[in-house]
Amino acid sequence: MGNARIEEKGYYITDVCIGCGTCQSSCPQRCITEGEPFTIQQNHCLHCGSCYENCPVQAIERRG
Ligand code: SF4
Ligand code: SF4
Repeated sequence: MGNARIEEKGYYITDVCIGCGTCQSSCPQRCITEGEPFTIQQNHCLHCGSCYENCPVQAIERRG
């Protein structure tokens, strides 16, 4: 129980990501890193939701 990982609130990219790069170009912070899947640098994210709204395959989840 004490070791349970607590997920922070925010936006996360799931394996549904197809690597199109749309979220990167829509992020005002440019805090999304390319990869499989792409990842959000949580410490720089403003929680603006722009990536979430623009992902063509709904690979980005909002948590919390
Ligand atoms: S929520 Fe906004 S700041 Fe955070 S990764 Fe998405 S577009 Fe960038
Ligand atoms: S917009 Fe969606 S599918 Fe495209 S790179 Fe970002 S998370 Fe992946």
